[in-house]
Amino acid sequence: MKYQVVIGLEVHAQLLTNSKIFCGCSTRFGAEPNSQTCPVCLGMPGALPVLNGKVVEYAVKAGLATNCAITPRSIFARKNYFYPDLPKGYQISQYELPICVNGCLEIEVDGEIKKIGITRIHMEEDAGKLVHMETMDAGEKSYVDLNRACTPLLEIVSEPDLRSADEAVAYLKKLHQIVVYLGICDGNMEEGSFRCDANVSLMPVGSDTFGTRAELKNINSFRFIKQAIEYEIERQADILDEGRKVVQETRLFDPATGTTRSMRGKEEAHDYRYFPDPDLVPLVIGDDWVEEIRGTLPELPDVKRQRYVAEFGLPEYDAEVLSASREIAEYFEACAALYPQAKTISNWVMGEVLRALKEDGREIADCPATPRLLTDMLQLIEKGTISGKIAKTVFEEMYKTGKEPARIVEEKGLVQVTDTGAIEKIIDDVLAKEPGQVEEYRNGKEKLFGFFVGQVMKASRGKANPAMVNELLLKKLKG
Ligand code: ADP
Ligand code: MG
Ligand code: ZN
Repeated sequence: MKYQVVIGLEVHAQLLTNSKIFCGCSTRFGAEPNSQTCPVCLGMPGALPVLNGKVVEYAVKAGLATNCAITPRSIFARKNYFYPDLPKGYQISQYELPICVNGCLEIEVDGEIKKIGITRIHMEEDAGKLVHMETMDAGEKSYVDLNRACTPLLEIVSEPDLRSADEAVAYLKKLHQIVVYLGICDGNMEEGSFRCDANVSLMPVGSDTFGTRAELKNINSFRFIKQAIEYEIERQADILDEGRKVVQETRLFDPATGTTRSMRGKEEAHDYRYFPDPDLVPLVIGDDWVEEIRGTLPELPDVKRQRYVAEFGLPEYDAEVLSASREIAEYFEACAALYPQAKTISNWVMGEVLRALKEDGREIADCPATPRLLTDMLQLIEKGTISGKIAKTVFEEMYKTGKEPARIVEEKGLVQVTDTGAIEKIIDDVLAKEPGQVEEYRNGKEKLFGFFVGQVMKASRGKANPAMVNELLLKKLKG
């Protein structure tokens, strides 16, 4: 490829406040259309906005978590445009003086760590929604639902520091993880609570002047953003190869075809005529409040991951999986507090626990196999009451019923057989049934050992102590 890819992302995160940014209406998703509205969010003349303090707190949280400077005095601005889902005829946003500036995030792609600049984070209100429907006589009607109008958004704008679709995805995932960790956004991409515009341009390798960019609008999944950027790179490369010029425009990604198409060019671009909103005074944020908010930040995923490696001696990979969400991390730490072997816990959490949860679409906070039950079971393995293999059966049952592992072991008769005589008897039976294989083994086909182990375990219905089976079997075969 003779072109260098340059990408900058603008991410919109809907904030998890109960009420809207400038009025007291509920932000709940999925309510009856226009049932959550008032004169302010309907844009009635004379209705005045009042800023929701929670929104400011959440914006500061996002800024602190992404290493931004918090602007001591920021300004709300009117972004003017006409659209039927925007009753006021302008959107209240921030323009010249946003609440957070000059941040950065670290991403890792192919083992390389890279810093991505965050230009700014600002607060704004969302618009309403148009619902288009076909009518009985094959006509079309459009309806306006203003429940979403005035719900709080953060717009998080990156520097053009990303150099591939994979870097863009890594950055987006990181940002997603952080806002969800902070508890300021539910991160639901399908419902549009976390969505992204991608600005993509190409320049000749070695050049230091960025090329003309296209802006890909409103992409709402990690898979789509990769597809959209990759398609866009090819499209622009073809244009440049042919000696033509990329035009600056806004494009829409179509998930059905994996392609992007032009939505509007530079000529049709809006002139928003930004100006400070006279209805809202400048927002002054004192250092003391910023510090108070800093004190409420949770441990963030990067720090947690590093601590898991340092404190529990876990491999990087385990630390990453276990710190992927706060809920998984809490589950893991609750287990670690009850049972001192972090790696054993990690294996079970990454394996059986997450698999079972995924299978029935449950959250880890609702896992019927609680940290106490899981660690009780690990103790049964350690004491030799059950084997690691039987433990999988116990876990299944524990997950299904929430019963105590010891009770499951008793009820199902799963206690491990550690009685030498009993195991020898099983081995004798198995060897007696397979005289041919025994002879082959004794003639040097040592590979068959695994076969015998398998047969003995099967005959014991998984209950024989594996170490003892190995030892006794070897003795008998050799002798
Ligand atoms: P706008 O307000 O028109 O969207 P901005 O200057 O705020 O423009 O930039 C928006 C995004 O575009 C930012 O994330 C920025 O990093 C990115 N960007 C700017 N120039 C380029 C470029 N030449 N190629 C790719 N991304 C770019
Ligand atoms: Mg833009
Ligand atoms: Zn309202």
